[in-house]
Amino acid sequence: MENLHASEALRVVLESVSILGVETVDLKRSLGRVLAESISSNRDLPPYDVSMMDGFAVRSGDVVSAPTQLVIIEDIKAGDMPTKIVRTGQCARIMTGAPIPQGADAVIPVEETHGLSAEIVQIDKTAKSGNYIRPQGDSMKNGEVVLQAGTEITPGVIGVLATVKVAVLSVYRRPRVAILSTGNELEGMSDPVDPNKIPNSNSYALMAQVQALGIEPVLLGIARDDPIELEEFLRRGLEYDVLLVSGGTSVGVHDYVRPTTARLGVQMKFWRVAIRPGHPLAFGITNTSSVFGLPGNPVSSMVCFEEFVLPALRRMMGNQRLYRRTVTARLTHPVRFNPGRTEFIRIYLTRDAAGYIATSTGSQSSGALLSMAKADGLLVVPSDSTGLAEGEQVTVQLLDGAAFQDAIEFRE
Ligand code: AMP
Ligand code: MG
Repeated sequence: MENLHASEALRVVLESVSILGVETVDLKRSLGRVLAESISSNRDLPPYDVSMMDGFAVRSGDVVSAPTQLVIIEDIKAGDMPTKIVRTGQCARIMTGAPIPQGADAVIPVEETHGLSAEIVQIDKTAKSGNYIRPQGDSMKNGEVVLQAGTEITPGVIGVLATVKVAVLSVYRRPRVAILSTGNELEGMSDPVDPNKIPNSNSYALMAQVQALGIEPVLLGIARDDPIELEEFLRRGLEYDVLLVSGGTSVGVHDYVRPTTARLGVQMKFWRVAIRPGHPLAFGITNTSSVFGLPGNPVSSMVCFEEFVLPALRRMMGNQRLYRRTVTARLTHPVRFNPGRTEFIRIYLTRDAAGYIATSTGSQSSGALLSMAKADGLLVVPSDSTGLAEGEQVTVQLLDGAAFQDAIEFRE
């Protein structure tokens, strides 16, 4: 199979996966899910014209000049209904959120008034019709679609759902994901430390990448580089919506993942993508499952997850935004010329007045997991780049932790 460009490989992956089914969840457990139904408002909000301030509901015709004295006919609190009509020369004391009484068409904030007695208030400023009145249905109108299917459920969306009293809702199902590591050299978490072995980090790093998307994956463990044992593990893994296999996808004689998946009926869509790190990435499907053969090198495995698995999982969950946000940053050092492959460079981000600044986190070897652990993002070097100079503007895909920064300034 030929070497695909990164964008072609991504296209093949996204064409091969589709939204999974729908399930219902309790509103209290719905954060991060994706709405599978459109939601309409079941009432006007506010339900009537309300005051936006604590103050006095007046007839604007009475306050065309100031100061003016008005007779207070009643007190209206939020939750009360007015009982009187405001007539010429009259007003009602009103609280924020309380309904505007009949006859009144403006509110004067209490700060713009003086109480002269229990019944008389002096209005110190003029007001126009509609001042400080929030009209009925201003926030939402009865029957109006307030949330479209495909909306990702954030705290703000949960607030809207609670407003329209949706206690149980339809969301897209999350994919069931299994993770398998392969390699005779691998040492499991509970195995004794053996200086000749390589600790299995990939299962855990991949697990965390999956968890960060709100999915709890199943760790199948470690399969030896043995076709029979591997087949057994892969068969179990194919029972899941998505199987992530790390290692054994390369050209070594003991790299059995591709021949074994093929024997199990997996239709291979591609093998080898023109990226660095992550070149020996394989991808295949069955009727019910997608299989990613991720390279064993720890950073390659994580980068392939970011670039190809993450968008696929998000598509399956109904997300409309499939990709990590990118920012433009200024490079603090040159990046050498490496033709022919899209390259992903681990960087950390700082900021100055001119914007983001990108600096390499250290060794860019595909085994240098520490430089991945320090990274805020992946600088994307296009395959046709002839190298990047210090000071050049570059595109950086943000990683998870990059959503936060050290300090903030409100510019008060
Ligand atoms: P492979 O893709 O199987 O040829 O493995 C490439 C490199 O990644 C080798 O040095 C492996 O030891 C290492 N490797 C493979 N699987 C894992 C894993 N699960 N955890 C950490 N390193 C791994
Ligand atoms: Mg191997």
